[in-house]
Parts: sequence; structure tokens; C-alpha cells
Amino acid sequence: MTELVKILRRQIEATGPMTLADYMSACLLHPTHGYYTTQDALGVDGDFTTAPEISQMFGELVGLCLAQTWMDQGAPKRFALIELGPGRGTLIADVMRATAQVPGFHAAAELHLVEASDRMRALQAAALPGHHPTWHDTVETLPENVPVFVIANEFFDALPIRQFQRDPKGWREVMVGLAEDGTLQRGLSDPAPIDALNKRLEDTDTGALVETCAHGAAVVDAIARQIARNGGMALIVDYGGWHSDGDTFQAVRGHRPVDPFAEPGRADLTAHVDFEALARAALIAGCAVSQYTNQGVFLERLGITPRAQSLAKRLTGDALDAHVAAHRRLTHPDEMGSLFKVLGLYPGTESPPPGLDP
Ligand code: SAH
Repeated sequence: MTELVKILRRQIEATGPMTLADYMSACLLHPTHGYYTTQDALGVDGDFTTAPEISQMFGELVGLCLAQTWMDQGAPKRFALIELGPGRGTLIADVMRATAQVPGFHAAAELHLVEASDRMRALQAAALPGHHPTWHDTVETLPENVPVFVIANEFFDALPIRQFQRDPKGWREVMVGLAEDGTLQRGLSDPAPIDALNKRLEDTDTGALVETCAHGAAVVDAIARQIARNGGMALIVDYGGWHSDGDTFQAVRGHRPVDPFAEPGRADLTAHVDFEALARAALIAGCAVSQYTNQGVFLERLGITPRAQSLAKRLTGDALDAHVAAHRRLTHPDEMGSLFKVLGLYPGTESPPPGLDP
């Protein structure tokens, strides 16, 4: 039994079943027993691999997209370059390397990283020698009154969700409680009306399962307000859908799906990102929203194939095979190419960022 099971069990015994959001937060970010605070999550030896860990090309092209947008917006002399949930720091390190030759870009950029885990912060610091990022626990402390250029890869899928099952009398919330033998188990609350889901009564039937991610909408609201007011842009890259219902809560350990309630704190927990909900939050905050674009299409438009060909010239043997496989993995529709999506946020007075314009 993990230490975290004991803690959660005591908590449930004292105050009753907990929401999925509280369970997810505890599992991922508990200060001493959380997944991101204790495990080497990312990479070939970890539980899952992300696009920047697959190839340097991902961060290079994201960097060029950021730098081109910065130039298109008149190359502001000071701006905040922000990454949300930077993991091992690979993406931001590749962004910094790819943009080093862009005149004025580094001099104007102040680096800000939003990262809840101290363990991850240490990895990020090691990946960024010579740069001096400022770390933040949440988006609430990010600088104000400067343009913000934001990248978030596989950040929103880690934010806590709640799940509700439609009932003739309203909604039953999915809760985490205790089984007879004291193990954690999924259950349902008594039916109750949920104000935030009143509109969903029109387009769902009894039994339908609906997920909400208030945290994700709040993050987008904060960033989109800033972009609308001061300029900049945000690139949100993740797996998910455009407003699709159903249970997408999942746990992964050692690159394999596992029971999300079996070993809290030891597996990565995610849910699909509802891009429609994020787009709605951005529009309400006064920001423009790009087309919802497949990662493969986005990377091809930014020139991943010529970049891959140029890197291939220097490689032979296994390294060349791995490079060709990485290009395919990032872009091919059977791999990450269409499972992962990109959404850009930008000021309504500007054009969409490169790679996201139709
Ligand atoms: N972007 C990276 C890593 C994605 S993993 C990549 O592409 O490789 C998710 C990252 O977000 C981790 O660094 C994790 O510690 C961080 N994170 C998860 N939930 C968070 C939260 N609520 N607030 C801040 N950081 C969070």
C-alpha cells in the first residue's frame, strides 16, 4: 500500500468521499507523495514520452513559431516567455537554442516557468544553464503589463477534472470513496442539480458522462486576458477533443494503462483536454482563437520535413533510423500527428501564429 493511500483513506474516513479533482490533485502534486513530486515521470525510462523528448525538432519549430510571431508583432523590447508545466525542461531548452540567432529575441525575453513540483524545477534549472528563469506555482503570479508568449505542451491534460453522470433528477458526481476492505473505489454521489451544467441538460441523455476542468478554463482566462491587453500569443498542444463527452480519465505507468485507483501517486493521471471549452474561455476573455489544428499539420507547415532532411545528412546507422522514426512519430496520423492538437491564442488585431493559419 502506498503512503498516499493511507493519507487519502484517513481523509475519506474523516470527511467522506472526495471529488475526482481532489483525488487527481493529491495523486499528482501531494508535496511528499505526489507523482510529479516523487517520480521520474518522463522519457524512455519513465512512464510516458512527450513530443520534445522524442526529437529536438519539436522545440526548434515551436521556438521559430514564437520568434516569428514576436517579429510580426513589432518585436516588443520586453516580453515574458512562459512555459506551463515544462517537465524536464527539454522543450524550453530547445526553444532557447533555436532562437539564439534571432536578433534581439533573447535580450527582450524574460523567462517564466509555471511548475508546481520542486523536483521538476531542479531538472528544468539543469536544462537551462546560463538562463535565469523565474518559477511560479500558478499563472496568478506571472508578470502583468508585458506581452506574453506562452507554450503549454501536455500541461492541460494533467489538470484536475470532475466527472458527472446524468441522472433523471440532475447529476451524480463521480467520487472516490472506500470499499468494504478499505481500498479506494469509484462511486457516485446522490443526484443534485449542478448550475454549471444546466445547459448540458439539453444535449445529454440519462447515463451520459460529462467532464469539466475549471482549472484549465481559469488558466486560459488569465493568459488570454493578458494577450488581449498586452499582445503575445499562446500555443496549447495536447491530446483531446473538441467537446466530446465520455470517461477519459486514465492512468499510465511504465508506458502502460493501469487502474487509476490502485496505486495513487505512482501512476500518471490525465484526462483528455476539451479544446472547445478552452477556446470558449479565451474568446470570453477577449482573445482570438486559431483553427484547431492537428500537430502533424502544424509541424509540417512550420517546415519539419526540410529540417528533418537537413539533420539526417549528419546521421548514419541506428541514429538515422531513430531520427526518421521520430519524425514519423511526431507527424504521422497513425501516431501523434492527429491525436495531438494545437490551438493558438492571439490578439484579435493580429494574424494567427504561423502553422495555425488556414
Ligand atoms: N511540457 C513537458 C512536460 C509535461 S508533464 C513536456 O512536454 O515534456 C506535465 C508537467 O506539468 C510536469 O512538469 C508537472 O510537474 C507539471 N504540472 C502538473 N500539474 C501542474 C499544476 N497544477 N501546476 C503547475 N505545474 C503542473
